[in-house]
Amino acid sequence: MTNNKVALVTGATRGIGRAIALQLAKDGFDIAIVYSGSGNDAAETERLIEEVGGTCRSFKCDVSHFDQSEALVKQVVFQMGPVYALVNNAGITRDKLVLQMKEEDFDSVLDVNLKGTFNLIHHCYAGFVRQRGGRIINISSVVGLMGNAGQASYAASKAGVIGLTKSVAKELAGRGITCNAVAPGMIETDMTKKMPEKARDALLQAIPLKRAGTAEEVAALVSFLASEKAAYITGSVLSIDGGLYM
Ligand code: NAP
Repeated sequence: MTNNKVALVTGATRGIGRAIALQLAKDGFDIAIVYSGSGNDAAETERLIEEVGGTCRSFKCDVSHFDQSEALVKQVVFQMGPVYALVNNAGITRDKLVLQMKEEDFDSVLDVNLKGTFNLIHHCYAGFVRQRGGRIINISSVVGLMGNAGQASYAASKAGVIGLTKSVAKELAGRGITCNAVAPGMIETDMTKKMPEKARDALLQAIPLKRAGTAEEVAALVSFLASEKAAYITGSVLSIDGGLYM
């Protein structure tokens, strides 16, 4: 255990989560990363963090499971110390028109994106209160603000994350803990690589800055929200979308 503050980042095996974990390590946090898959990608994130002189441990957990999330938080606190910054980044899509969307498609997206965010906040809550300080940063999406045809489950989950964020911000403000949501637009990751080319081109055309964002740009915003400089920001939804939603 070091004297550094601990940041817990879910879904940090690739994409936006990996960039956030790497940036927070550069900011001086010890990093706990969460993965649900094989763990090979988590090992690569660990390697990248160690390369910049940071400390990182990875933990396997399906964030949609309440009990696994509880065990995860206990392990992180036991091995690394109290969590100061919680970044709820793990997310999935199961895009279909509502008519074709099966019940399990809807449930799995809500379970990971919304309930997973609740699970981690719930299990870190008492620790935050004890510390009388901390940062919760939830990764929502521009789609949670504006909706998108073919993404009803994803949009509902990400809009839910915004309601959760504002409620938690109000509950914890008196203890000096901030809770904010980040709403990225189209960011170059594995998730957006899955988009059909036509839909991708149409979306790029609609972005005033005429390009997709990078995971590092999202990580820079999260880094600011996790810092002391952002102490007076809570309950906010910060868009990072090239002007797509304004
Ligand atoms: P990604 O490349 O698909 O990565 C998703 C991450 O979530 C992976 O690390 C994955 O870990 C993890 N994950 C998935 N299900 C999980 C579960 N049940 N338990 C624990 N971890 C789980 O996604 P991304 O593009 O970087 O997106 C990251 C976040 O930003 C998501 O919340 C996404 O909705 C949001 N976002 C992305 C964009 C975009 O354009 N890319 C835009 C707006 C918002 P494993 O590999 O171990 O399963």
